[in-house]
Amino acid sequence: MFAYSLPMTTRFRGITVREGLLIEGPAGWGDFCPFPEYDDAEARHWYDAAFEAADLGWPEPVRDAVPVNAIVPAVSPSAAHALVVASGCGTAKVKVADAPGSLPDDLARVEAVRDALGPGGHVRVDANGRWDVDGAVAAIRALDRAAGGLQYVEQPCPSVPELAAVRRRVDTAIAADESIRRAEDPLAVAVAGAADVAVLKCAPLGGVRRALAVAQACGLPCVVSSALESGVGLAAEIALAGALPSLEFACGLGTGSLLAADVVGAPQRPVDGMLAVPRRAPDPAARHAVPADPERTRWWLQRLARVRLLR
Ligand SMILES: [Mg+2]
Repeated sequence: MFAYSLPMTTRFRGITVREGLLIEGPAGWGDFCPFPEYDDAEARHWYDAAFEAADLGWPEPVRDAVPVNAIVPAVSPSAAHALVVASGCGTAKVKVADAPGSLPDDLARVEAVRDALGPGGHVRVDANGRWDVDGAVAAIRALDRAAGGLQYVEQPCPSVPELAAVRRRVDTAIAADESIRRAEDPLAVAVAGAADVAVLKCAPLGGVRRALAVAQACGLPCVVSSALESGVGLAAEIALAGALPSLEFACGLGTGSLLAADVVGAPQRPVDGMLAVPRRAPDPAARHAVPADPERTRWWLQRLARVRLLR
């Protein structure tokens, strides 16, 4: 077992360091990396995902590579344009609603991204639940025009009933992300008619096999996204995308570039917008360069010991 601490290139989700605990088992390495504020019950799902990788490995993939989207943070239109061109991706996800009154900037950024992708590319936006229903309806209509058609809008509002209300009032497809944290959530989203697309992450859902079961049960097209994992945990998310029976959309798995250092020697980066699907997690050969300090190591080992006792 090895606790690591990875500096990030940009502040994301309010953190500048990504920590976790690497676990080695007969099938390879697993990454136990629930965010520090999660309680032990939530962390148990991440434990199950880490030990799936270490003890069992993953189901056989049905494809060799998966398409990924470019990530466009709240940057200037020219920076957004350059970022999308440099990514080589045919799909871009643009962060919007970053601050109150940001809509004019969001519109300009989305226009620049469409220009960079050309008419054949796909533009999606992610509001991270920051709009209310009326604000979402107005913003989505304007963004859809600016983008020359949006692929979908991710999490326009915080709650499932709000997502359903927005979905009834706009033609643009709605994706649920933050509304899906536990295995029961995607079913609730589907039953409420709250989304057209489900964003899945195998770590909070308890592993690749459970995430595949959730995908099947919810009956929605799924997009796989990372939880900002190290190269070891990211491999599990790519394995999930590789094993989904159908994959209509590019996935949010190009997050390796948000880490300034990694536990693996050669972190996977998308080539022409694609990531190769791994059969097992890569060896964390660079872990000794990014150790957590003794106090954080103790914290992670204690967390693992508590979570292990939960069922
Ligand atoms: Mg999202």
